[in-house]
Amino acid sequence: MRTTLINGRLILPGGIGETGYVVIEDGKIAAVEKGEPAGPLSGEVIDAHSLYISPGFIDLHTHGAGGADFMDGTVEAYLTVAETHARYGTTALLPTTLTCPDEELFHMFDVYTEAKARNTKGAHFLGIHLEGPYFAYSQRGAQDPANLKQPVPEHYMKILEASGDIVRWSIAPELPGALELGRLLKSRHILPSVGHTDAV
Ligand SMILES: [Zn+2]
Repeated sequence: MRTTLINGRLILPGGIGETGYVVIEDGKIAAVEKGEPAGPLSGEVIDAHSLYISPGFIDLHTHGAGGADFMDGTVEAYLTVAETHARYGTTALLPTTLTCPDEELFHMFDVYTEAKARNTKGAHFLGIHLEGPYFAYSQRGAQDPANLKQPVPEHYMKILEASGDIVRWSIAPELPGALELGRLLKSRHILPSVGHTDAV
């Protein structure tokens, strides 16, 4: 199965806007070339009419879209978010949580599993991004202060045992115990990231 996008303005590492074409074979990019294809084309041909041809956007931090939020706790909300993002050029994303009570978080993990299996039309789910609950009170922003916690193993091990889908965890690194958690995440190939922090 071959598709060729012609007459597009290419978005490439070296620059934006040169006219060119992209060949896709069996769902994978096989060629990106400047100018116009030489000779007749086989398969499907799509004329981009000088619109941009861009790589898919991968969103590592998003809470929702299309009126739905990942914390709504329903599979339907997940699918609405995924399909809305796909319409605007996001091809993959990390559903991101808000600081919340543990029961709500664990429910979110279950919904994620089901939604991932049913997500056939939307941006792909690449794993869960946890935002909180280990944040600085003074930098809480939109995070509910009632649910902020300290990173102690008794708590974070429960979270890590409840889901194998966590791929990124945002934490305030100055909290006691945060660096140990960061090292543990690294050893488990989960990306520790800094957020809502008072660190200077
Ligand atoms: Zn956020």
